[in-house]
Amino acid sequence: MNIGKIGILTSGGDSPGMNAAIRAVVRTASYYCVNCIGISLGYKGLINNEMRKVVPTDVNNLIHRGGTILKTARSEEFKTKFGRKKANINYKKNGLEGLIVIGGDGSFTGAMIFGQEYNIPIIGIPGTIDNDIYGTDFTVGYDTALNTAIEAIDKIRDTATSHNRLFFIEVMGKDSGFIALNSGIATGALDILIPEKKYNLDKLFYSIEKVKQKGKYSSIIIVSEGKKLGGVYDLAKTTKKKFPDYDIRVSILGHIQRGGYPTCSDRVLASRLGVASVEALISGKKNVMTGIKANKVIFTPFLKAIKKKRKIDIDLIKISDIIAC
Ligand code: ATP
Repeated sequence: MNIGKIGILTSGGDSPGMNAAIRAVVRTASYYCVNCIGISLGYKGLINNEMRKVVPTDVNNLIHRGGTILKTARSEEFKTKFGRKKANINYKKNGLEGLIVIGGDGSFTGAMIFGQEYNIPIIGIPGTIDNDIYGTDFTVGYDTALNTAIEAIDKIRDTATSHNRLFFIEVMGKDSGFIALNSGIATGALDILIPEKKYNLDKLFYSIEKVKQKGKYSSIIIVSEGKKLGGVYDLAKTTKKKFPDYDIRVSILGHIQRGGYPTCSDRVLASRLGVASVEALISGKKNVMTGIKANKVIFTPFLKAIKKKRKIDIDLIKISDIIAC
């Protein structure tokens, strides 16, 4: 297909590797002689016409940087027909012939609606630390967030061991436990509480008692964020009532998990998906998300990527149960 100009935006929460994806899109567009327009602040920028041409030299020295040079935002206005109408006016005014959206399932919902409403070809790149999107084994940013969490948890373990403390550590993940489960296994956590698995306080108390009898008074318990688990402070309080002689502390890792230099895996993933998304637009694909399955680039319709739930690996839950204590 003959495409002369495409737009690119990042939307929703930022994730490390978004810049590497932007770089890949800009360089691939240039490779195929397609002009590339960078849209600032996600759909908000499309509505407010905040756009500028981006050329390969604009993305020099960028592959290793966290965050997104295009900036990201959430736009309530884009959820309205009127907001999307304004976005379409600017889309046309700037002569765009396709869009690449880097974001999570919310951003793809917006892309799907907008694409259908105005017959606009849109390709999505999954960029979120949560790894919660169907249609890809990994999302851009997940590996970096996981490694950031592990590094922080290892440090907390040092102080936990020195003081004989029991630490409840909350990690990010929205409604999915990928970061919690994998970081918990990698750091030797005593228990891992994730939204996908009904948590059992008796089991947790049994594990604490078991290691106590072995003379171990310091442990790490990983708790995934999200309402389902009732909050890390309440869990710590309930545990303290059961084990009053324990020194129990809470640590919430928070936004450090969103930033930092992307890992090698995230840079390579972002580069592969960036190239694939431009090639997809050129070949006439529309309203699909690029992803990686069994190390191959695949495309999943937005509707499927949004509606289908990405399942956590049951084997990993079993592994954590077996080797935790
Ligand atoms: P993250 O997983 O990091 O939170 P996300 O893409 O899921 O990323 P959201 O805040 O859910 O983040 O969505 C980003 C933006 O997508 C919203 O601010 C809005 O502009 C757009 N969007 C979400 N849902 C819709 C919808 N139903 N209709 C139109 N636009 C939507």
